[in-house]
Amino acid sequence: MKRSRIGPKTFAEALAKALARQKAKPRPVDQKDREHGYEWRRVKRPLGYSGRLKPGRKTKAWTAERRKLKVKYAQMGITSCELGYQGCKRDDWLSFAHGRKRRKLEGDELSTLTILACIPCHDRIEFLPADEMLAIVERVIALRSESQS
Ligand SMILES: [Zn+2]
Repeated sequence: MKRSRIGPKTFAEALAKALARQKAKPRPVDQKDREHGYEWRRVKRPLGYSGRLKPGRKTKAWTAERRKLKVKYAQMGITSCELGYQGCKRDDWLSFAHGRKRRKLEGDELSTLTILACIPCHDRIEFLPADEMLAIVERVIALRSESQS
């Protein structure tokens, strides 16, 4: 049977053809696309897309709450880590730690069930079982009011 001449017949022929294609110039920028201000390869983004997602409702609420908490804690005289485990950073790398995972906070716990903790201490309680983390936070809060009165 006679084979048609369409396409390469041997591997060497196919390889040569592929290499020749690779050497060929890349497709030039389309003139029409240029007029529209983008190159043909670039993915078109919707207007106002900044490359990352905007903070959601909960993130915004927490950002606002954190500002209030900073003032509240300063008034209470709490300006350093309340946990003080080994490797504690004291008044450096501070954050607010919650008694529950963020999505499990109830009612006003976002503002009431918090303690001031440095990142190393925060990380220690963060990876404990949920009930242990809650117990620690509640104990710290209870001790706080005891020492004030
Ligand atoms: Zn600490």
